[in-house]
Amino acid sequence: MKIVAVLPPVVELPEPSPGYLFNVEKAYNLHEYFASKGHEFVTLSDANESLEPHLADMSIFICSPFYPAYLTKEKIDRAPNLKMALTAGVGSDHFDLEACAARNITVAEVTGSNVVSVAEHAVMQILILLRNFVGGHEQAVNGEWNLPKVGAYAHDLEGKTVGIFGFGRIGQRVAARLRPFDVKLVYNDPYRREDLEDELGVEYVTFDKLVETSDAITIHAPLTEQTDTLFNRDVLSRTKQDAYIVNTARGKIIETDALVDSLKSGHLAGYAGDTWYPQPAPADHPWRQMPKQAMTVHYSGMTLEAQHRIEIGTKAILDNFFEGKAQKQEDLIVEGGEIVSPSYKIK
Ligand code: NAD
Repeated sequence: MKIVAVLPPVVELPEPSPGYLFNVEKAYNLHEYFASKGHEFVTLSDANESLEPHLADMSIFICSPFYPAYLTKEKIDRAPNLKMALTAGVGSDHFDLEACAARNITVAEVTGSNVVSVAEHAVMQILILLRNFVGGHEQAVNGEWNLPKVGAYAHDLEGKTVGIFGFGRIGQRVAARLRPFDVKLVYNDPYRREDLEDELGVEYVTFDKLVETSDAITIHAPLTEQTDTLFNRDVLSRTKQDAYIVNTARGKIIETDALVDSLKSGHLAGYAGDTWYPQPAPADHPWRQMPKQAMTVHYSGMTLEAQHRIEIGTKAILDNFFEGKAQKQEDLIVEGGEIVSPSYKIK
């Protein structure tokens, strides 16, 4: 059987990192795994031309959301042997899910593998924005000592309203981590979680109320037909003056140019996140140079601990596949010709 994975190329690291698993060479230790099973394992560092010769005979396609290979319907049509598309991580929007369903291709991901990592990153970026950390840090490095220039735009998080958009595994963990800051937490999700509201100290609100009353909005919904560019020019104009947005979900949930304009006009006070569209983000992506931002590259969910959990989860999904065992239901996005994940099947 031929298995193809798309992973970043090998780059020289400034210091050794024995736990690092995320490149074509380390490949989550899958080279050894597939060799022991007698399968052919091909690792590629881009999904464009180099994938072409493998489309016809690959049976499993593996890619990560950090370095996504966009498996379009057109590519799926040219992959007649494809049985499983596996996301080594969380978030499978880089696969055309409807096309996979139509062809009865299983789409699975390592659900939960990096949700703590991302929740921590989101909380960090909320604090970085409110405290105007970037401005303070730049002065420290540049030999400046101009306190009003930083302090005049810095806030406490305490007492603010934080809106959590998408209240699944990550959204809930963000709530748990923010609660000790004495904030007001509101959330919106098609599935109301009354069972968690007291425990996590959150209040369910409509999407409009979340947008219009939050001092900081943190986005944790998947990229779907409903959330694609949901935060468009109109929605961004309806946030509170000087609101902040953090988006560690998917870059495409925000309208790219409308966000830049809102920051430039002084409506939004700041934006941070680690997800972009497309990825890798081109050097001239407008979010790289926009003002009042604390963007990072997409690495929140690839801490060394997360990479280790992704390795274990990926192998578990592959073991189930080769042994003909049922996958864990929570890992399945598409199965038996339909989208089965509750987070992706919302219409
Ligand atoms: P999850 O499936 O546990 O939770 C997603 C939640 O979003 C669900 O509660 C779902 O009901 C909700 N949702 C779906 N459609 C919605 C809509 N239209 N409006 C509001 N809520 C909606 O997933 P998760 O593990 O919490 O991950 C959430 C997303 O975060 C992933 O889909 C992925 O895109 C992203 N993610 C990013 C990274 C990263 O490294 N930055 C890592 C993991 C996941």
